[in-house]
Amino acid sequence: MSAYEAVIGLEVHVHLATASKLFCSCPNSFGDEPNTNVCEVCSGMPGVLPVLNRRAVEYATRMALAVHATVNQRSRFARKNYFYPDMPKDYQISQFELPLCEHGWLDITVNGQTRRIGITRIHMEDDAGKNIHPQGENVSYVDLNRAGTPLIEIVSEPDLRSAEEAVAYLRKLHGMVVSLGISNGNMEEGCFRCDANVSIRPRGEKKLGTRTELKNLNSFRNVQRAIEFEIARQSDLLDDGEEVIQETRLYDAVRNLTAPMRSKEDAQDYRYFPDPDLLPVVITDEELAEWAATQPELPDARTARYISDFQLPEQDAEQLCADPHLAAFFEKAATLCGQPKKVANVMLGMMMREINQKNLDTAALAIAPDAVAELVTIMGNGTISAKIAADVFPELMQGGIMPAALVKERGLMQVSDTGAIDAAVQKVLDANPAEVEAYKGGKKKLISFFVGQVMREMRGKANPALVNEALARLLG
Ligand code: ADP
Ligand code: MG
Ligand code: ZN
Repeated sequence: MSAYEAVIGLEVHVHLATASKLFCSCPNSFGDEPNTNVCEVCSGMPGVLPVLNRRAVEYATRMALAVHATVNQRSRFARKNYFYPDMPKDYQISQFELPLCEHGWLDITVNGQTRRIGITRIHMEDDAGKNIHPQGENVSYVDLNRAGTPLIEIVSEPDLRSAEEAVAYLRKLHGMVVSLGISNGNMEEGCFRCDANVSIRPRGEKKLGTRTELKNLNSFRNVQRAIEFEIARQSDLLDDGEEVIQETRLYDAVRNLTAPMRSKEDAQDYRYFPDPDLLPVVITDEELAEWAATQPELPDARTARYISDFQLPEQDAEQLCADPHLAAFFEKAATLCGQPKKVANVMLGMMMREINQKNLDTAALAIAPDAVAELVTIMGNGTISAKIAADVFPELMQGGIMPAALVKERGLMQVSDTGAIDAAVQKVLDANPAEVEAYKGGKKKLISFFVGQVMREMRGKANPALVNEALARLLG
């Protein structure tokens, strides 16, 4: 065990999926022609007044309720002043002294150990635009489509103790925001971004060590690797009698290292002050009660329900429930075929592989729950083998065809005709006399060689149980 303990706090920015921006009526959408969703307000013209988007307040409050936090029914927007070309106002509208939400928590489980992670605050703010630096061109462009779009920032207490815990916490938050329907959670589009604050201290020490803030962590995997790298780097420094410098560091995924970006600003550098253009944000008792009463089912509750209603193992239930779209898909398929565990196996196995490989959006899968239900049924009744199911699955993912029809069209139905199987087995035995001799002499492991050969002979369609039975019989 290392002599040091890692201390990690995360700042997570979640892009809210409202129809319009936070303080103007420009569309809040991704991927449009640059600078088409821009008006006087979000481009920072003088003499205009921002008007708060109520839906953003609702979404932020829903997140606060989900993490058992105190909702400040009266909060304030503040100006965070700094200059950057993608932010024409020269200040970001954020919340500082009086955030919307404080003192929340969520539980994470890593290696069977459950720990409660404190959430310091959640506040609303607007996003900046984007600077674009095209490769090979000696210019930079600014796209203001994202300027003024709504974000919440979720700040954790420095309660996390390892990279695994940080990722578990992030996955949990991610499952919550997509289940609440307040964000699409797309990490590649930057809709769910995280900065990790990392320090280390000698085990047993109560005082916090000097932290660095890591940026550019755009996948769960990169969060994990960046934090691991940073813990190792800081440990080496302390081992060598050197000091950790408080700074912002950028993660380089290609080289898997962090490198200094700038020295860390303090809050005072931003000259925060209450935004004089905006009224305090007031949430009425009625609004709060209504939002609380209409919270969607969250991953933890859903996981518990799947364990009790569908008898799923906890890990399967958790994985499915982390994504509300997959969970809804599962429920339909499991109800249709009545074999929940088998449905979970197909979804967490073949289906996840396809989703990850092709980077598919689980909200818009072409395959229907009926298809997975039918696949599970025809695997269960012996119409097709697991091998054939895996072979045709990528095609099923494209939608438009049901599994029974597909395997029929391709002639892929499992062969359970013992005559045909016996013939294939005999052919394999005749073709491999040396192996037969060795098997009879005691090399029983050769059985898998024979099974493989028979399967090949029958193009993967032989019923495996019958092949084993025939081999046992004919090998004597
Ligand atoms: P800032 O806004 O300047 O980044 P905050 O005080 O809001 O600073 O802290 C940001 C995050 O850093 C929080 O998640 C907090 O838990 C975490 N943090 C603060 N001190 C440490 C530390 N010594 N080690 C690790 N994380 C820390
Ligand atoms: Mg910070
Ligand atoms: Zn606008």
